[in-house]
Amino acid sequence: MNNDPLLKVKNVSKHFQLKTGFIDKYLFKKQNIVQAVSNVSLHIQEGETLGLIGESGCGKSTLGRVILRLHEPTQGKVYFGSKEVTALNQLELKKIKQKMQIIFQDPYASLNPRKSVEDIIKLPLKIHESLSKKKMDQRVTDIIARVGLRPQHLKRYPHQFSGGQRQRIGIARALILRPEFVVCDEPVSALDVSIQAQIIQLMGKLKEDFSLTLLFISHDISVVAYLSDRIAVMYLGELVEICDTGELLKNPLHPYTKVLLDSIPRVEQIGAHKRMILKGDIPSPLAPPSGCKFHTRCPEAMEKCNMEVPVSREYSANHWVSCHLYQSN
Ligand code: SF4
Repeated sequence: MNNDPLLKVKNVSKHFQLKTGFIDKYLFKKQNIVQAVSNVSLHIQEGETLGLIGESGCGKSTLGRVILRLHEPTQGKVYFGSKEVTALNQLELKKIKQKMQIIFQDPYASLNPRKSVEDIIKLPLKIHESLSKKKMDQRVTDIIARVGLRPQHLKRYPHQFSGGQRQRIGIARALILRPEFVVCDEPVSALDVSIQAQIIQLMGKLKEDFSLTLLFISHDISVVAYLSDRIAVMYLGELVEICDTGELLKNPLHPYTKVLLDSIPRVEQIGAHKRMILKGDIPSPLAPPSGCKFHTRCPEAMEKCNMEVPVSREYSANHWVSCHLYQSN
């Protein structure tokens, strides 16, 4: 049996250069570089769902896009099976993109308002496969039924649908090519809570039907926990903790993970439990704090935390954490 991961991310960083003003550039020799993702490594086994959580702006969507090469990495490598995605030429990339797809966060912005649903869903097929019209129609009919839409929806336009239905169209477009791996980039965060549950259940079913491997990105840990086999926690561009979902919920180690878990309202907490609250906003990735990037907000920060960068360490089997609290047993 082959136990090699389907997806490997090795030491990936993505920095964006912002426009620098004349004075900053020539007088102070200053460069505005946003460190969106810093030295991230992870893997995903075939058939696994890895959840990726963190606050807005922590770099999780950028990482998803770097994996699919919608952004070029500043450094590091991404492997899909035996292929190094980051080294492929445009033709090879087009081929592999049949197997690697994305579902976007915003079902309003990600669908072309001038195209009918049929055209939107058919477009990837036209680009990547040469099928007869009959076969193409069969594939479209099949996928819209699987995502819970009806044949009469095909002739309509995106504005004629609710947010949940538009996300179903986005899912159909991502799955029409029968990919092996899908990045789900906050697929439910723009939806009402009642609709979120339907879409999450649909994602779970489609994952089984199509034997998918998923990277499920969300800022909501309860959404991620429902679908994921393992969870990776990201803070200001870095992975701070990664382990099985059950282990993370039972035994969170990193103070940031504990705060995220504490933010889930639970009946038994009311009145009895003093919840951990994060101080301040997430710092700017233009000038991240020294040492542990979380030290400016960490309820358990120690003296060395603002000077020394913690290294990632396997605290218990398959449970990795980057925090000075766990540097020695
Ligand atoms: Fe908090 Fe220090 Fe651990 Fe960072 S290294 S999470 S500041 S205790």
